[in-house]
Amino acid sequence: MLALDCPNCGRRNGLEFAYSGEAGLDEPSSGGDIAEWRRSLYFHRNGAEWTRERWLHVAGCGRFIELERHRTTNEIRATIGPPPERRTGPT
Ligand SMILES: [Zn+2]
Repeated sequence: MLALDCPNCGRRNGLEFAYSGEAGLDEPSSGGDIAEWRRSLYFHRNGAEWTRERWLHVAGCGRFIELERHRTTNEIRATIGPPPERRTGPT
């Protein structure tokens, strides 16, 4: 079973979360051409390695979290917290 640590709700069953993609990918600027967008949307690394991902706590607080997960073992080595653009409150 995959268990994820939500900074708001604590450790929860991974079934409560929806995978929302790889975090930290560069998106083309608003004027980027179609080839740049295609590469950004569909061509990601998929190796047996650590990846930084974004998950949505659908059955909990409804917030996004970022974490580092190994694609082969499903081991989670760090829960980073909400993505930078979604952080709220004083900094
Ligand atoms: Zn939560």
